[in-house]
Amino acid sequence: MTFDEISTNDWQAMDAAHHMAPFTDYGDLRPKGARIITHAEGHYIYDSDGNRILDGMAGLWCVNVGYGRPELVEAAAAQMTKLPYYNNFFRTSNQPVAELSAKLAGITPDGLNNVFYANSGSEANDTIIRMVRHYWALEGKPEKRVIISREFGYHGSTIMSASMGGMSGMHEQAANEPDFAHIRPPYGFLHQGNQDEAEFAANAASWLEDKIIEIGASNVAAFVAEPIQGAGGVIVPPAGYFKHIQEICRRHDILFVADEVITGFGRTGQWFASQTMELEPDMMALAKGLTSGYVPMSAVMVGDRVANKLVADGGEFYHGFTYSGHPVAAAVALANLELIEREDMITRVREDTGPYLAEALAPLAEHRIVGEIRTFGVLAAIELVKSKDGPEMFEHTGATGAICRDHAIDRGLMMRAVRDAMILSPALTYSRADIDETVRIAAQALDATADQLGL
Ligand SMILES: *Cc1c(COP(=O)(O)O)cnc(C)c1O
Repeated sequence: MTFDEISTNDWQAMDAAHHMAPFTDYGDLRPKGARIITHAEGHYIYDSDGNRILDGMAGLWCVNVGYGRPELVEAAAAQMTKLPYYNNFFRTSNQPVAELSAKLAGITPDGLNNVFYANSGSEANDTIIRMVRHYWALEGKPEKRVIISREFGYHGSTIMSASMGGMSGMHEQAANEPDFAHIRPPYGFLHQGNQDEAEFAANAASWLEDKIIEIGASNVAAFVAEPIQGAGGVIVPPAGYFKHIQEICRRHDILFVADEVITGFGRTGQWFASQTMELEPDMMALAKGLTSGYVPMSAVMVGDRVANKLVADGGEFYHGFTYSGHPVAAAVALANLELIEREDMITRVREDTGPYLAEALAPLAEHRIVGEIRTFGVLAAIELVKSKDGPEMFEHTGATGAICRDHAIDRGLMMRAVRDAMILSPALTYSRADIDETVRIAAQALDATADQLGL
């Protein structure tokens, strides 16, 4: 039998019987089975029942150049033929990795000139945790171990990266290591109240200083933050927030780390949000858009302060992965970056589709179950509320978001729900017509959700 002769039901049964999917409630999924995605092209995914779904999430915030780009496929095939694998442990390296490292040093903010490779954002953040603590030990301050991050921050799902993240559900499932602390995010919709933007920015940043003082700066290694909190609900900070944050980090001699796993590679209208927001991180985590998700790869950009110390006094850094600096992944990353440049995708996000997405979504803010629309580049959130007065949030957080998501998918749009916020993170190649289609279906999904809830 070929793939096409097997029915959807059979695929679903085979999958449900054996596959433990990530972030999945097995008791809930197994009786129904998963949607089987068979192929994708451009900005559309297709399932085994022949449904065509516009992918408003670019996979999982990662397929920045869209699906089906032959340049990436050919780069992978050519590299697999020439050198499919060799390790970088034995004083060996490979051509794609050397070239990619120079390229990343060139496009990331000044001072980030060194790259450590891994396979996922989680591993990149685990690497950062080890490197930061090792750095302070080399500086003669081994007690500087605590890493501060934010509630609703997402830094991955290994035990350490999930402990660093601010997802309480993950902490409850054996990912709550000591020496991590969390502060409230600059989530204006919940916490701004009557403050103007500048006041709220200063106030939200002061939560970091309060926490540093509580723990003692001599115990704090780093503050780690996504420039825009993605999986936490596309939380866009008020203007000026990070200026205060960086001053606080400098004042207390704490490293500042930007997790740009989502915001990197063009999504905010520059190569990195650090450039859009004028950040000067000491280190940076990169993944997702690095290869547009075609193959796994992540990277840690290491600033000169930390890298120079490791070079001068570090001895061997006892850390790495079999596939650190994988030649095929590096070749795909290079082809991906070249495509982003050749098609001028970042300018397009900055000058055309980013502003157009904001403009096209704006009217949805009037909808009776919408409390707020947030956008930044090609990232967006539609915050759902029970009532605009207050606003009043839904009692069972997440239930309404899931209803709205299902209505959107039924109508041909893949949107993700984070709590009760609907999220969009399309490819950089998404067109104005794709945005129009997205907003049209999103509006229908909002109506259907409100009707179902009797609102
Ligand atoms: C997805 C994500 C990660 C984790 O990446 P994985 O490849 O899933 O391990 C880390 N940080 C941020 C900001 C992310 O969005």
